[in-house]
Amino acid sequence: MRRTPNPRRPLDSLWPALLLLAALAAVGWAGVGNRYGPHWHRWLFRHRPAGIILHHTASDGRRNGTPLDAAMVDADHAGKGWGIEYQGRTYHIAYHYLIRADGKVEPGRPEGAPGAHTLGRNDYLGICLVGNFSSAANRSGQMQPAYPTQAQMEHLTTLLRKLMHKYDFTVEDLHRHRDFAQTSCPGDRFPFRQLVETLREPAGGPTP
Ligand SMILES: [Zn+2]
Repeated sequence: MRRTPNPRRPLDSLWPALLLLAALAAVGWAGVGNRYGPHWHRWLFRHRPAGIILHHTASDGRRNGTPLDAAMVDADHAGKGWGIEYQGRTYHIAYHYLIRADGKVEPGRPEGAPGAHTLGRNDYLGICLVGNFSSAANRSGQMQPAYPTQAQMEHLTTLLRKLMHKYDFTVEDLHRHRDFAQTSCPGDRFPFRQLVETLREPAGGPTP
């Protein structure tokens, strides 16, 4: 017996796909495009970090006359067994970002990879500023910078605003290493309260 052709219009079979596409677009808009959106879309980020933890290198900002950078820290950390394989590359550097004394922001390990910067809290992003901001360990300022530089704080603020927007973090999700461990990191000279106040202001406001 000869089959009769399907009398339905070809578009009919496309409606479920179109509806799904519309739903995905709505979810994408709410989750990424609208920073004032609800928080339910946090769950859509597969690798959403738990928050952000700030550090200092507790070292001099220069080594043999060269500014300390992410490649040097990566080499330093290579012997510590903190390395991680991520998407075909090995990363030794414990942090997700390093901010040099001149303010340049350098990527460390990718945001999707766990850190190696805070025991028990490596599901947080780790951002490290080059310098030693501890008055006990760097009393006379023999390690420079002894205070975060203006360039470091400006670029840190910009980076934090970007990450807070991306992951829908508030200032409550921002911490210092010392908040979780017996350490002074990132040092008592790090202006954490001032930074938090700045981040509460809308972007374009004063920087610390
Ligand atoms: Zn630290």
